[in-house]
Parts: sequence; structure tokens; C-alpha cells
Amino acid sequence: MSVQKLPKAELHMHIDGAIEPTVAYDVVKAACPERLGELFREDANGVLEYNYDDFIGFLNCIDTVAPLTLQTPDDYEALTYGYLKNAAAEGMVYCEMIVCPGMWHQSPDYDFADMMAAFERGIDRAEQDFDVYARCKATLERGDSQEAIDKNWWAAKQIVANSDHPYLVGLDLANFEQLGDIPGHQGLFDYIEQNQKKPLLITMHAGENAGPQNIKDAMAAGAKRAGHITCIMDDAELVKKVVAAKFHGEICLSSNAFSKAVPTLEDHRITEIYNAGVRISLNTDDPTFFNTTIGKEYQIAKDTFGLTDLQLVDITLMAIEDSFAEDSLKAKCVERAYALIEDAYNYTRQEIVQNRGSADVKAQPVLK
Ligand SMILES: [Zn+2]
Repeated sequence: MSVQKLPKAELHMHIDGAIEPTVAYDVVKAACPERLGELFREDANGVLEYNYDDFIGFLNCIDTVAPLTLQTPDDYEALTYGYLKNAAAEGMVYCEMIVCPGMWHQSPDYDFADMMAAFERGIDRAEQDFDVYARCKATLERGDSQEAIDKNWWAAKQIVANSDHPYLVGLDLANFEQLGDIPGHQGLFDYIEQNQKKPLLITMHAGENAGPQNIKDAMAAGAKRAGHITCIMDDAELVKKVVAAKFHGEICLSSNAFSKAVPTLEDHRITEIYNAGVRISLNTDDPTFFNTTIGKEYQIAKDTFGLTDLQLVDITLMAIEDSFAEDSLKAKCVERAYALIEDAYNYTRQEIVQNRGSADVKAQPVLK
């Protein structure tokens, strides 16, 4: 059965990773046509897609395409509105977008204040038109080159200057884990914490393409969540610690398969992670680069891993509860999630609350 009508929420979506290949193709064609063959290809059905086969290839592709495509605030506003529109059509209630201030490190015209203003416009228009809510978290990027260090410190200062923006709710640390450990970037987070105008909650990419130590480091650094945690089941003690701390794992199934963080999609241990009691969400990561949507991620969780509709509702509610949104918005999102399911399914809110997370088939929501 389709999961189309189930309410959905995601906490790990890089807005730079949501650029449609058709949009990027036209930009690259105009700016550097000699690179079209390197960056794009057609799938078996002749549909344009990004051209890469591993994580390094993906980084090369997105690091080339995104700066060329996202040059003005209008570009970001259109991208935000378009993504939320499509996601809302699949039942998205709340989306926490990862935004990258460093993208405009060298821009002569714009800084992070312009970027946040663009996100605000896109988010507000989408909320008004499609009843979907969104907030932003600003990411720093792992790296120890002088260029990466300069960019991160510029970004950290920009984040502090905009930390009172009501739609900026958190911080992230992204990029290939081998490019730098969490303690090596602690100074940036300390600087932001000491100077920010309101508290920004922290998540970090960890346990995706390196071992469990990065998840431990993220927890020690005060993070409430971590992106991926793909390898967490390799460390039973860590699983216990994560469950006890209600530490949240942002699961990205298609991304992990595409980037080979797991050998194949079927090798992902999401079911074990969920059954161990780890609080999780389902996420697209870089949706257009991994040929996915939030609806596809929920469908994969159901079809490939056997999660029930009620378990998927449980995961949506965990995502909302563990989001960095303000409490009043979380309450609105919870109401919207229950309204969607009560509209579509033969199930009351009270029954959902009582049976949350149940795998009992008798307790499953059924479409009206
Ligand atoms: Zn990510």
C-alpha cells in the first residue's frame, strides 16, 4: 500500500542538494558547456540525472553545480518554495533544511543575511500555499585546508550575526568525515555558542563514512542529533547510551546506498536501529542528487524494510518532537500530522497515541 497519505517530517535535507538536474543543466550549459558530460547523464529512460558513482564523485558534482546555480537570493527562494511544494504534495508536515552560509563566502554582493531572508520568503510562501512548515540549520563543512578554515570562520561569524533570525534554529557539521574529526572543529562551535544571540541546537554528520567514534564525539560536543549513524549497530554500548540519552539519528536510506555508506540498500540496519529503541527520522539528504523524495524514503522504509504505517507515523512524530523548531511550531506540526492521518485513515488520535510504534497488524491504520 502507498504511504502517500501518511504525514511526514524530515530533519536532514541540504537545500543545495535539492537543485533539479534540468535547472542545473541549463546553468552549466551557459557557464561551462565543456563540463556537461562530466556532470550529467541520462538514466535508462532518458531522464536527465547527475553523473557520479561514488561519494567523492557526488561531492565533486554538487560542489560544482550548486555554486553555479545558487548565485542570488531569488535562486534560493525559488529552490526552497519548489522543494517544499513538492514535499507537501507527498504529505510533508515539517522540513528542517540544512543551509550553507559558506556558499557565499566569496560573493561580492550577498552574505548570510540575504540568504536567510530568501529562505524566510520561500518558507512563508510555501506555508501559506501548502500548509507545510520549515526551519533552517546552518552548516559548517569539515576540512583542514587553509581555504576550508577561512571559509568556516567567515561562516561562523555570519551565523553569529544572524543567530537571532527566528527561522535559524540549529547548527550542523557536514562533509566527508575523513576530512576532519569533530574535536578539530570544536573551536568554531565554541565561538558560536559564546557569541550567539539565542541558543542554536546542534546536530552533526557522524557515523556515515567513518566509525562510531564520530557519533560519540558528536554527543560529547553537545549535539542532540547526528546525521546518518549508519554504523551505530557495530557498537552495542553506544546504542545503549544513545537510547538512554534520547539522542536522535537522522536516517538517510537512499543517500547511504548511493554513496556506498552501506554496501547495498538492503544492508541498511534501520530496522535493527529502530527496534533497539533509537529515536530516528527518515530523510532525503540531497534529494535530487540521490534520485529521491520524502515520499520515496517512507515507501522504501515500508517496502524494503517492513516498517508498518503505524511505525512510520511514530517516526514522523519523533522527527517533529526532536526537531529544533520552537515549541509552538512543534505543537502546530503535531496537530497537522494527526489531522492528516485522521483525514485519510480509519484511525483516531487516541488510538495512534496508544499504539505508537506498534508492529501489531491489528492496530494498523487503514485507508478510509
Ligand atoms: Zn547530509
